[in-house]
Amino acid sequence: MIDLRSDTVTRPTPEMRRAMTDAEVGDDVFDEDPTTQLLQREVAALLGKEAALFVPSGTMANQIALLVHARPGDEVVVSEGAHCAWYESGAAAAWAGVQCVVAGSGPMFSVDDLDAAVKPRVYYYPRTSLVALENTHNRGGGKVLPQALVVDVAARARAHGLAVHLDGARLFNAAVASGRSLRELAAPADTVSVCLSKGLGAPVGSLLAGDAARIGAAHRFRKMLGGGMRQVGVLAAAGLYALRHHSARLADDHRNASLFAERAARSASLQVLAPETNIVMVDVPGAAAERPAERLAARAKEAGVLLSVFGPRRLRAVTHLDVSSDECARAADVLVALADG
Ligand SMILES: *Cc1c(COP(=O)(O)O)cnc(C)c1O
Repeated sequence: MIDLRSDTVTRPTPEMRRAMTDAEVGDDVFDEDPTTQLLQREVAALLGKEAALFVPSGTMANQIALLVHARPGDEVVVSEGAHCAWYESGAAAAWAGVQCVVAGSGPMFSVDDLDAAVKPRVYYYPRTSLVALENTHNRGGGKVLPQALVVDVAARARAHGLAVHLDGARLFNAAVASGRSLRELAAPADTVSVCLSKGLGAPVGSLLAGDAARIGAAHRFRKMLGGGMRQVGVLAAAGLYALRHHSARLADDHRNASLFAERAARSASLQVLAPETNIVMVDVPGAAAERPAERLAARAKEAGVLLSVFGPRRLRAVTHLDVSSDECARAADVLVALADG
């Protein structure tokens, strides 16, 4: 099988497993796990923030950010298709008690879109308290947000008295693709979440970074949500290994995504969105009611290629550590043969 469903399907490499086995550990609920503390310091430094907190998942990192920045009844401004509104089981409503309002359309919105989304500070409106951005943008096809616009929108958010959270599950991809440092990409945000379990290839883990006061509050919320972990250094060690050895190679994933997209675009019927990072969106012809994407994905699976269904007419392919350029080329050829044949 060539598995292009997600960059989360990777398995830890033998070297990563060795780092996990050798990790020095302690009870992290007592703040006594040296490997976790090292990972937290290293990620905070990379992102240019005072502190960072290791959490089990990107979902928990985002949800803790909502709890830190907003109160029940508040409103959070998000982009179209934002992970925290689409893929977190309604947790924003259930745990943080916030409602999400979509500004503009597509992966990034303008300053004007933000102005239109922010409610006046009158008691009968919800209180807008946070802007949440996503870089790269998953449903936006792995798009890297234009940094100048991120800076402008964040400045405007501040002028409205709002905090800014950046969902950087794939911020490492954004850094590699744009040639900008993680620190520069994170600078406009008060809190940033990053995933080690996506393109970096660690089995588990995300971090939430920000100033010491907010990460102090996050520490408490993590415990409330049941995310306090004990000898978690075995996982932090995998994360440290991933940071040190798998960051630069994300460029390979981006090249493989371009290769896949170019070959898939040879199809007479498929519409392929040119990728910026490791995500390729492929639109399948046919009436939405007939769910052509689901049908093509089922046939591709029989031919040994796994893809995600992202809408009635849309498939998503994601490149990662465990697929070679040959496999990406072969997967695209299989898809073209099935779609056009
Ligand atoms: C994967 C992802 C997350 C977090 O996902 P988990 O599976 O909970 O780790 C958050 N935001 C984006 C944009 C993602 O792609």
